[in-house]
Amino acid sequence: MNSFMLIVFLLFFIMGTISVMSYIVYNEQKLELEALTEQEMDESYVVEPQGKSGENTPINNQGIYINYFLKKNGDLVVGDEFNPELRSLIMDKVKGWSPEAIQVKYVTFTYGSHQEKEIHFLIAGKRVIDGGLVKGTLYIGKDVSYLWSMFQWLLAVLLGMLLLFVGIAIGIGQIMTRRAMKPIVHSYQLQREFLADASHELRTPISILKSGLEVMDMGENHQLSSFSSDLLVDLQKEAKSAAKLVDDLMLLARTDSGAQPLFYETFDFFSLAEQVVRSIQNVTPPSQIQLNLLSDRSLHFYGDQERMKQLLYILLNNAVQYTQPGGKVTLDYFLEEESQATKLCITVTDTGIGMEPEHLESIFRRFYRVDKNRSRESGGTGIGLAIAKWIVEAHQGDIEVESTPGVGSTFTIYLPLT
Ligand code: ADP
Repeated sequence: MNSFMLIVFLLFFIMGTISVMSYIVYNEQKLELEALTEQEMDESYVVEPQGKSGENTPINNQGIYINYFLKKNGDLVVGDEFNPELRSLIMDKVKGWSPEAIQVKYVTFTYGSHQEKEIHFLIAGKRVIDGGLVKGTLYIGKDVSYLWSMFQWLLAVLLGMLLLFVGIAIGIGQIMTRRAMKPIVHSYQLQREFLADASHELRTPISILKSGLEVMDMGENHQLSSFSSDLLVDLQKEAKSAAKLVDDLMLLARTDSGAQPLFYETFDFFSLAEQVVRSIQNVTPPSQIQLNLLSDRSLHFYGDQERMKQLLYILLNNAVQYTQPGGKVTLDYFLEEESQATKLCITVTDTGIGMEPEHLESIFRRFYRVDKNRSRESGGTGIGLAIAKWIVEAHQGDIEVESTPGVGSTFTIYLPLT
């Protein structure tokens, strides 16, 4: 982006410089021609032409000027040019042009047997009046091809320098960016390693804790005071969510290092959806939230069954969690044709609290929670949607969200059918 802006800026700078310079040079040349024309007007041969048609006359001949005098009826009285090939072209150009005050024109001629030669002229014209009678028109021209080619060279050199300069700027920019990024990349890698190591180290003690608590619950529970058995239930809940958190963190760490494989197989999407909906219904009383699966269409899908199940769990759990009692959560899926490819489209819609638009971009980021207090209360960690996004993208799909605060949210997933 910076390089692009630099190129645009330099291009404007070059165009501006060339335009101003050519304007100055053009004006200077114009003034010179006007002065020369005025000077020639005084020459007696103009007022009383003596030379024969086509004869050389006093103005010349430095090899760059032309000098023509045409009578009122168009007859050539004086015609002087350094290259005879130009005469018919010049005559064509000036025919019928007889300005009262001096005017200057810029003209380009191409000539030669294959029109391979090009010449650039500034031609000044002025009507000659003597004793109130129009005698004819005087034309003085100057070959400005050397200026034309000078400007072309200047443009080419400036553009060449622009490319060189931009190339150097991009090169230096890359080196500086790489240098500046080094500590950031290093700390990012350290963070990833820490995530992997910490979740791995935590996993064993938490599973021991969890199984220990389960054993206590099954065994001598009746000997515990009511306070202790309440505490045991709380501890079990905490151990369970800690174990889930560690599992999620480990999954993220593995996706970072690319060590999380997908196990592809063909399965019936309806059975999977039905199973997930049923298991969430088991822990969510219908009086609280009405959870429905709309489609009953059997559909063979090729993907990682476990990960797809996890995806549906994450989305449906969120929908249930962020919907007040009496609300509705709906899971639906259908096939959609898009540019000759068929996609499986899954939607999870709720009538819950919804989200403000500014959060929608960020909710798929790790540890991002819209309302930290509410999310923490319901056991949220801000990892669920990051995992959901990874699962969808690992299946070459897309996930989108639409939400209106106080009305509800819809998560839509598009997965290609392979
Ligand atoms: P969490 O574990 O906090 O639910 P997620 O990554 O699953 O983490 O979601 C990130 C945040 O997105 C949540 O904290 C919540 O604020 C918001 N969110 C997710 N799903 C919904 C939903 N269906 N309705 C409203 N907000 C939602």
